[in-house]
Amino acid sequence: MNLILLGPPGAGKGTQSVLLEKHFGIPQISTGDILRAAVKASTPMGVKAKSFMDAGNLVPDEVVVGIVRERLQESDCANGFILDGFPRTVPQADALNESLVQLSRELDAVVSLQVDIHALVERLTGRRTCKECGKGYHVTFDPPAADGTCSACGGELVQRDDDHEETIRRRMQAYHQQTAPLEEYYRLAGLLLTVDGMSGIEDVQQTILTGLQAS
Ligand code: ADP
Ligand code: AMP
Repeated sequence: MNLILLGPPGAGKGTQSVLLEKHFGIPQISTGDILRAAVKASTPMGVKAKSFMDAGNLVPDEVVVGIVRERLQESDCANGFILDGFPRTVPQADALNESLVQLSRELDAVVSLQVDIHALVERLTGRRTCKECGKGYHVTFDPPAADGTCSACGGELVQRDDDHEETIRRRMQAYHQQTAPLEEYYRLAGLLLTVDGMSGIEDVQQTILTGLQAS
């Protein structure tokens, strides 16, 4: 199963990808996670990406395209992959097509999560992430067993630097200008599976699985 999860910041791509990863036994590939790890480790790529991420802008296409091209060649992707947060521009989608042709692979579906702006802001401002293992939570909708502590590893839960009002506004703009056209791109390719992402986490997961079975 070769999947893309598409949707605005806070739509639930990461949350659903982790569940799909478990369900299908294929890896989630989050360009955001890979970039944040590079920033934390101060690699040359991380240093280059940081200013774009802090401002809520997209990182240049060539950086993320390179990341995904390499990642797709790793052995754990042999049975499939779930791309979370990539592609985010038409040139990235074109580059992905080229990589897949080279690998003799094809996309099975592009799941587009539909969530209204009010809910997106509520989800982003309440999002918390474990500093140690990266597991995601929400203070109201998916809280940890103990406040501020990861239920999986006991690590400290933190708010992402870019989950603040000003940056959220810029990220939404970037989504509408640069990423939203991909819905039409994949609709024309016959791959788009539009999913109502407004219900609870488990319900959204079920809707995705039912939609994938039918597609
Ligand atoms: P994305 O990867 O699309 O930016 P996330 O998966 O990180 O979004 O979800 C954003 C926040 O919303 C997280 O705090 C997550 O726990 C919460 N969340 C995800 N899906 C739902 C849902 N269906 N209902 C309520 N909250 C959700
Ligand atoms: P995310 O974790 O998916 O919300 O991504 C966080 C930030 O990483 C984004 O706001 C961008 O700055 C950067 N980023 C992640 N994926 C991409 C991508 N495919 N193209 C460009 N920038 C990206």
